[in-house]
Amino acid sequence: MSGADRGPVGSHCGGEEEIEAGGYVCVGRKHGDMEAGKREMTAHKKKLLILASKLGYQTRGFAEAAEKLGAEVSFGTDRCHQLENPWGDEALALHFERGREAGEEIARALAGNPPDAILALGDRATPAAAYAARALGIPGNAPEAVEACRNKLRQREVLAAAGLPVPEFFSFSLGADLADVVRRVKFPCVVKPLTLAASQGVVRANNAEEFERAVERIRALLTSPEIQILREPGLDRLLVEKYIPGKEVAIEGLMEDGRLRVLAIFDKPEPLEGPYFEETIYVTPSRLPEEMQRAIVECAARAVRALGLATGPLHAEFRVNDEGPWVLEAAPRPIGGLCGRALRFGEARISLEELLLRHALGLGGSDLVREEAASGVMMIPVPRSGIFEGVEGVEVAEGIRGIEEIRITARLRDYVAAWPEGASYLGFIFARAGSPGEVEEALRGAHARLRFRFSPRLAVEHPGTGRMGS
Ligand code: ADP
Repeated sequence: MSGADRGPVGSHCGGEEEIEAGGYVCVGRKHGDMEAGKREMTAHKKKLLILASKLGYQTRGFAEAAEKLGAEVSFGTDRCHQLENPWGDEALALHFERGREAGEEIARALAGNPPDAILALGDRATPAAAYAARALGIPGNAPEAVEACRNKLRQREVLAAAGLPVPEFFSFSLGADLADVVRRVKFPCVVKPLTLAASQGVVRANNAEEFERAVERIRALLTSPEIQILREPGLDRLLVEKYIPGKEVAIEGLMEDGRLRVLAIFDKPEPLEGPYFEETIYVTPSRLPEEMQRAIVECAARAVRALGLATGPLHAEFRVNDEGPWVLEAAPRPIGGLCGRALRFGEARISLEELLLRHALGLGGSDLVREEAASGVMMIPVPRSGIFEGVEGVEVAEGIRGIEEIRITARLRDYVAAWPEGASYLGFIFARAGSPGEVEEALRGAHARLRFRFSPRLAVEHPGTGRMGS
């Protein structure tokens, strides 16, 4: 067990105060007015609509937090449009890639019984949430702001126009002559699709040859049935950016009336130098100098203002080097997967899910600050593509000092793809300890003890055609 489990940290304080949290100052409380929430609850049962492409573990975490708060939860998803209620969860079937239409559909379906809040999990659902909130007259971000975040090219244009530090960029059509395109590229560069997430299809190239290979690889990904079925707009263009060297950090934040409150700054201690950029370790509090942390928070606040985001969760990524912070991206949604579990707030150690829902539903307690223990998560990378056959060493790894939990989320005998084609991790390792260094060491130690087994995906002969597929 780590120090984090030793009980409440800090002394009681009734009112609002300024608290030093991981080097940057944020206003918050160690004890929120949770009673206000209970009073509110008894008057009117709050209703929450969750929009998510995957009704998996992350969605379940939010649904459980909502139930704990006594709220009624409904879902909207884009898993399937042909079948009525195929998963027995009464989810609204939506097309998230057509945000405006999906929002209107939600508004029509829920007009007589509107939710108090809509929460989008994952980038894809964010425009639908914004359009629906506007149509229903409930709090939400402006659809235009959310649309700007959804498209990496548009986001770069908005941030650059506002004078924020972003890498030099341009976009090109996949139909263009690559020999012409390559003449415009400054190396090293990063090539990426406009609308995918989780670093899927993001590739670094150091010269013309690598650039052409990267483009062909991304083209194959974007024209694969798995991606085409998403019907995302912009799959026929790519974005090229100058590669920004430096350390990478992520911010988890909460916006209210356009003001950003930083809940945590995560360092990413692995060198993310490419050619592919799967995430691995996140550790908070940040070990960057305080001055740099302030600069990052300031940069995040400017990015939020430039994009026009105003309310709800924010996840943003930055690179930092001698020139200061650079914005990689900002998105109006919580951190993905199970990573939110690395964060707990207030003396009662409420989850990130609960904190965000308290905010969305107007219950007290969303101003709590993160616990003082250092905490981290490792998204377990996929070492190579193949059929996942199992993992050994979990018990030993869980026995390492500081490790709190290891969750393998990949399903046995499912095909898992390594990056850049991949987009989901094998699982998550969580650690808490007295210092960020100990957390990092625990995560690395645990990962080193895990042995993942894969078998190759065999080609399948299709009966009748004599053709081989895979
Ligand atoms: P996604 O939204 O799919 O995660 P990003 O644009 O945030 O895509 O890129 C994913 C990762 O790739 C980043 O977290 C970073 O590590 C790396 N990356 C992207 N663009 C750059 C860049 N211009 N310079 C350096 N690294 C980059």
